[in-house]
Amino acid sequence: MSESYSFSDIKDQVVIITGSGRGIGKATAKLFAAQGAKVALTDLDEDVLQESLGEIQKEGGEAHAIVADVSKKEDAERLVLEVYEKWGKIDCLVNNAGITRDTLFIRMKPDVWQKVIDVNLGGTFYCTQAAMKYMRKARKGSIINFTSLARHGNPGQANYSAAKAGIFGLTKTLAMELGPMGIRVNCISPGFIETRLTDAIPDKIVEQFKSRIPLQRVGKPEEVAMTVLFLASKMSSYVSGIALDVTGGIGS
Ligand code: NAP
Repeated sequence: MSESYSFSDIKDQVVIITGSGRGIGKATAKLFAAQGAKVALTDLDEDVLQESLGEIQKEGGEAHAIVADVSKKEDAERLVLEVYEKWGKIDCLVNNAGITRDTLFIRMKPDVWQKVIDVNLGGTFYCTQAAMKYMRKARKGSIINFTSLARHGNPGQANYSAAKAGIFGLTKTLAMELGPMGIRVNCISPGFIETRLTDAIPDKIVEQFKSRIPLQRVGKPEEVAMTVLFLASKMSSYVSGIALDVTGGIGS
């Protein structure tokens, strides 16, 4: 394969992946590190973060771990600055950190509403504002956000659906505003992926959901990670403003 049609540019990249102590974020961090990227891991939990770091380093990858709460502006700014000071640039930001706090809207307390908005949508806002400064100067970069199939609405997830629909709108808008600066902005829209986020869903609901998936199975974090790699690499150099469904075929 010719050098210009490969994922070879990933090895020169500095990539920040939020929420990379577990699940999709961790799988993504391991995949980028295996391709030779310098990976900044970030999470709330120091222990899981150190575990991710250890696994990457054991496989010969280069990574740096920073505990940060993306829903706090000062943490997002500290995280991005620390990465810039360490490696001198930021090529890619993966806004993966996300939470759910499911309950029917009729019982949804304001704090539960706000928390989900703050981490998913607020975290994406703070980290993007902090990182785009450096991408703008370099006149290149790729920002990859995480929306969800739930952005179209899902009973019990009014807070999460609203946050993920917001991330979709933010992605489209930023693709327009930052495109002239050479920055691509896209989002990934997973369906049902086996992680801690979906562990809590009762088996009966999982089976019902599975029956709607054309590929007839739930997805793995590694299958999402591969799509993040695509959106970070020059293999997607003319792609911006999209939501890439990783749903096993369920349409959006
Ligand atoms: P996960 O296994 O629960 O991992 C999420 C990670 O984000 C955890 O490591 C968590 O840290 C971290 N995190 C949570 N709040 C944070 C904060 N305030 N600051 C920094 N890190 C924080 O979930 P996942 O399934 O991999 O989800 C990854 C992304 O995919 C999320 O945006 C999610 O909404 C989206 N998504 C997932 C699915 C799915 O089926 N799994 C479907 C659609 C969309 P702690 O462990 O320390 O709390």
